[in-house]
Amino acid sequence: MKNIPSMTALIAAAQAAGVQEEYRLSSQRLTDYLRDTVNSCRAAVLTGQRVDLSPAALITDVRRRIQRRQESRLRRVINATGILLHTNLGRAPLGLLARQRVQAVAAGYCNLEYDTDTGGRGSRMSHIGERLARLVGAEAALAVNNNAAAVLLVLAALAAPGEVIVSRGEQVEIGGMFRIPDVIRQSGAQLVEVGTTNRTHLADYRDAITANTTAILKVHTSNYRISGFTKQPTRTELAELAKEKNIPLFEDVGSGLVLPVAAVGGTEPTVAEILAAGVDLVLFSGDKLLGGPQAGIIVGTGHHIQRLAKHPLMRALRLDKLSVAALEGTLLSYERGSAPQDVPILHFLGRGEGELRQMAEELACAMRQELPEDLWCTVLSLQGEVGGGALPEARLESWGVSVDLPGGSPEHLVRYLRRRSVPIVARCKEGKVLFDMRTLFPGEAAEIGAALRDYCQGGMAE
Ligand SMILES: *Cc1c(COP(=O)(O)O)cnc(C)c1O
Repeated sequence: MKNIPSMTALIAAAQAAGVQEEYRLSSQRLTDYLRDTVNSCRAAVLTGQRVDLSPAALITDVRRRIQRRQESRLRRVINATGILLHTNLGRAPLGLLARQRVQAVAAGYCNLEYDTDTGGRGSRMSHIGERLARLVGAEAALAVNNNAAAVLLVLAALAAPGEVIVSRGEQVEIGGMFRIPDVIRQSGAQLVEVGTTNRTHLADYRDAITANTTAILKVHTSNYRISGFTKQPTRTELAELAKEKNIPLFEDVGSGLVLPVAAVGGTEPTVAEILAAGVDLVLFSGDKLLGGPQAGIIVGTGHHIQRLAKHPLMRALRLDKLSVAALEGTLLSYERGSAPQDVPILHFLGRGEGELRQMAEELACAMRQELPEDLWCTVLSLQGEVGGGALPEARLESWGVSVDLPGGSPEHLVRYLRRRSVPIVARCKEGKVLFDMRTLFPGEAAEIGAALRDYCQGGMAE
């Protein structure tokens, strides 16, 4: 302990090394960093570790701490899982047009709520409302912070304090605390459950309707399926019942398919088809299959949308200018017909097996040339998924490369890849590490190759 330099001596050493100027620290901040270093030295000495206590070593430690603190923590990740919409990996990557709109707007002032015709106050929805409505053939549209907010707003503004009827087969928990019964309670509406877990009949809905009923809510079972002896009334039947009783029908569709996507095989109706079936409002996320920024999108009947826009919660749930810009850019891609190429999620979904197999073969070939022979890589077909609570049954045939280290630990390799400065997220299965090609951007396969080379040249020993 006696050999640990005093704070005074360390401050002098740091000053002499120019640390304070280099990192633009106040004297107080420098002292805090030095104290952290001294404390960790003390802890190490106390646990009997050998520590280099020379001032030079301590200054190196301080530099490392400062650099680590000044690095950004939110960073790009290479997604080699094949899961297209991974909530933990930020869901949909933004397309070129969306990124361009964000850049154009972020650096300066913008007309977010300024009407350039009149010079008076404008509406942030004016940039996206019409475009959204046109895209799905709705009368009107609105966007809020996320789909959870959309459900909350619709119920609070249009259903509370009355009763909302939901099937017991659709009491969804999405994860991350989004549970339909809880959201309904928060909105101030009363949940009325009908049917059973596996079977709900139209008559169950009809029998539950009272003078207090203010809405019927249909919820997409985004992340599970009930199969076997099951029943749900069709959307059209439900819409007819709602019309007959003069009650609005709302549907939380979760991912919201805007364009029919061949890869998911027509198993899901598009938002336009859902509206055409007679649903009054359809709610979905901006960052799932639409491929835009985090947002909650509400499309449907004009008079409902107008009431939502005027509700006090709207102020708390509104989108910021960066999201408005990114959403407008994404919608422009659809409007210009370039979405299947521009919007990464749609581009990745559209990748055919031939293209994916070729990507895998190129990566495996590069690996075989550069890596030691005891690291086996094999091209193989994989089953991907859409993820993000979207299309739970869709299985995406994909291709990838599996890496096998005889005698090595796949978990060790996966951890090494995850902890790199650009983390690579790969799957581990049956003793092998799998890299799925579907979710890789151009150049990322080469980055994976380089990371494996680093691993063989020293990372393996870490
Ligand atoms: C994903 C999902 C949500 C939550 O959407 P966020 O945009 O994450 O708030 C709500 N309902 C369903 C059915 C979903 O699939």
